[in-house]
Amino acid sequence: MATKGNGNGEKQMSGLEALSPFELKDELIKAAGGSAAARPANISMLNAGRGNPNFLATIPRHGFWQLGLFAMRESERSFAYMPEGVGGFPQREGIIERFDLFVRENKGQPGIAFLAGAVSYVRDQLGYSAGDFLYEMTEGILACNYPVPDRILKLTENIIGQYLRREMIGKHPFVGEFDVFAVEGGTAAMTYIFNTMRENFLIKPGDTIALGMPIFTPYIEIPKLNDYQLNVVQVDATVENNWQYSKEELDKLRDPKVKAFFLVNPSNPPSVKIDDASLAYIAEIVKERPGLIILTDDVYGTFADNFVSLFALAPKNTILVYSYSKYFGATGWRLGAIATHRDNVLDHTLAALSKEEKKELHKRYESITTDPDHLKFIDRLVADSRTVALNHTAGLSTPQQVQMVLFSLFSLMDTPDAYKNALKRLIRHRKRALFEEMGIPYEEGDPNQVDYYTILDMEYMGERRFGRDFVDWLLKQVKPNELLFRLAEEARVVLLPGMGFGTPHPSGRVSLANLNESDYRKIGRAVRKLTEEYVQRYNDETGKHLDPSALPAPKK
Ligand SMILES: *Cc1c(COP(=O)(O)O)cnc(C)c1O
Repeated sequence: MATKGNGNGEKQMSGLEALSPFELKDELIKAAGGSAAARPANISMLNAGRGNPNFLATIPRHGFWQLGLFAMRESERSFAYMPEGVGGFPQREGIIERFDLFVRENKGQPGIAFLAGAVSYVRDQLGYSAGDFLYEMTEGILACNYPVPDRILKLTENIIGQYLRREMIGKHPFVGEFDVFAVEGGTAAMTYIFNTMRENFLIKPGDTIALGMPIFTPYIEIPKLNDYQLNVVQVDATVENNWQYSKEELDKLRDPKVKAFFLVNPSNPPSVKIDDASLAYIAEIVKERPGLIILTDDVYGTFADNFVSLFALAPKNTILVYSYSKYFGATGWRLGAIATHRDNVLDHTLAALSKEEKKELHKRYESITTDPDHLKFIDRLVADSRTVALNHTAGLSTPQQVQMVLFSLFSLMDTPDAYKNALKRLIRHRKRALFEEMGIPYEEGDPNQVDYYTILDMEYMGERRFGRDFVDWLLKQVKPNELLFRLAEEARVVLLPGMGFGTPHPSGRVSLANLNESDYRKIGRAVRKLTEEYVQRYNDETGKHLDPSALPAPKK
């Protein structure tokens, strides 16, 4: 019993230590008897490794399909329509009257009330022309023109801007305006930003950047690539500090060598938002270092209570990355946004580059503008996303932009936050179920906890529950990832290794977004069984008498 699974696990683990958590996940899935490709077939496997949610926003999707039907009607009423299936472009004139008629005819259909409400909201609350909005959306959903402007459609930018304002800035004061670039999800945002920063000498090989750790692994992997060759300073958040950065860690940002600070807030995997004191502390450091570039990836901000982004506190220094993937259950859509303040450190740094560097960049961008020296960083992102030469076909597909607008309006119009609260309830019930079955009291009360993921930190939980001596023994017994492989082999439970994300201790990341509550109960029981088995082994080998089902001491 004591060694069951070990031999196997060891064989499978050789050579796996270098894998990223996402590649290791595929090995764990194999160990759990599943195949990474045939997802629906693995009914008995519990894959809590995926960040992909198992919920999705229905109302704005209904709105999208209804808008599509309206748009088809518009195309087919056009003078160009032929019965062979050739339609024309929508007409701006009279579009409101035709839309009103469409709404009346389809009253009661799913998505119609939302769509009609969205048009009213844009007119009455946001103050834009309903006709212009309907025309932009109708043309967009028909996808009959290249995205123009390429960075983002016109009213689309205003509406997405309002959404980001509400979710990322909230009631925090914010002076000035910001620009938005609509992109193919948060991952495209990262690719574009790293690339344009390098092409524009904002980060050069050998430069130093700081990473807020632990972090979504690509942020660890990209700087190491041959293309970048960056030195990384870790700003560590620890479980002992409730996953907050201490002042000593944040003080690393005072070093003038640190060109940029990349972070995920709320974090992935700990799923904790930066507390107010640390936000204020970072803002203070930025005053001392006005040249510091910050990239904040706030994909999970919408799941937090009273979220305020670093973009609100240090707007001129901060690039905001947002993705619609998680909150709206829309990973397949590929929807995200990059925002920068109109007066920002990136453009100031570009203006202060050396003569030679400026000359080179002048050449790079002279095919797309008569004034390449003053091309804004965010427009360089757009151009670089299509290797400059294809700038005229850059931009996110227009139906994607339409769905992004409908998601944004859905959220803006949901003033009681019913959708947000429903999602929070969902993931927090799952966490409670998991912890109950593990035999660990569910800790509420940390207002910064977001709970999209939770980290099962073997060392931290083991020590609190069974003492330091047990943890020291355990760490000697098990190889990295061995517990994850045993969970996979013996209980068919797949978790991701926390250490791959840069957690200091061996741990497993449990996504609370992608399984049902009963599944989290099963995972909790499997973790408990495994723990008790190791405690039994420890007792047998050391002659100690730990109670395997003992409850941990409450958190200090
Ligand atoms: C999931 C995730 C992303 C990826 O977002 P997409 O929009 O699906 O590309 C980016 N950053 C973090 C921190 C994530 O967790």
